Amino acid sequence: MLVVLKPQVPEREANDVATRLRMFGVAVHRTDHEGRVRLCAVGDGVPVDWDAVRTWPSVDKVEKIGRPFELGSRAFHPQPTLISVGRVTIGSDQLVLMAGPCSIEGEEQAFTIAAAVARAGATVMRGGAYKPRTSPYAFQGLGEEGLRIMRRAADAHGLAVVSEVMDSQQVGLVARYADILQIGARNMQNYALLREVGHSDRPVLLKRGLAATIEEWLMAAEHVMSQGNSQVILCERGIRTFETYTRNTLDLNAIPVVKELSHLPVIVDPSHGTGIRDKVAPMARASIACGADGLIIEVHHDPDHALSDGAQSLYPAQFDELVKQIRTIAEVVGRRV
Ligand code: PEP
Ligand code: MN
Repeated sequence: MLVVLKPQVPEREANDVATRLRMFGVAVHRTDHEGRVRLCAVGDGVPVDWDAVRTWPSVDKVEKIGRPFELGSRAFHPQPTLISVGRVTIGSDQLVLMAGPCSIEGEEQAFTIAAAVARAGATVMRGGAYKPRTSPYAFQGLGEEGLRIMRRAADAHGLAVVSEVMDSQQVGLVARYADILQIGARNMQNYALLREVGHSDRPVLLKRGLAATIEEWLMAAEHVMSQGNSQVILCERGIRTFETYTRNTLDLNAIPVVKELSHLPVIVDPSHGTGIRDKVAPMARASIACGADGLIIEVHHDPDHALSDGAQSLYPAQFDELVKQIRTIAEVVGRRV
């Protein structure tokens, strides 16, 4: 339920309403907009006497949550959400550039790529240690050893770390090494996992599911937020369509649509979105032109021998050139790298 307080209610009274709501056993999320406090009460069916709440002196109105997602909606929270990670504030006028290998393969690989992407202007290193592979016989990632290597490589070059967590039981472990927890496309509707990262204090990079509508994606974000973690970064990474030329169809429509519906930052992954190295840069440029808050891109110094996704990985020199182009496009759309 949405509890809208009267205009200019004193802080003490607003806190009092929130406390009294919590006493019913519901979680309370608050936003302040144009002098009004709005409280979103999430209760998983906890009984609350809403008729009584309506009569509380500071309460203006009590409404049913009409939208399938509320906490993530612009209507509830009109200002953009800003998420600070390392040297960058995601969602601000500064674009976030996340780059690195698909999988962490070893010390030399991770340090070489970290150095290259940092030099080019990335602020976050990407890299998987727990890999969701379509084939059980493909490389599954180095696990905790991979996380340890990536943390050291990132630290050596002043980068933050984003890495995928595949299972609710892994959240604590991955959060010890990574600054951002990535939820992969295949797990976008793994609600137990979404709830678990919802209890973490780490920002969550939520990839769009392979066949998820925008609304389903925003509802997945809502699962995370409803557990108390409002630091969700959405990531468009291409969806399944009838088109087979590219690995996926990168849905750039989603960027302006999500920007209208939600206050959450949204970035684009043109690597998985296209699956083809020479299609990554044009789609990365288009992503920034249409309003994305940043990019996550696979880069490998020796993609022919990469253990996963070599065909879509940029060479470091290509990434460097792309960042230069992104700087120019950013300026046109009022952003910066
Ligand atoms: C990845 O980032 O390497 C990955 C597996 O992405 P997705 O979940 O989008 O397929
Ligand atoms: Mn990959």
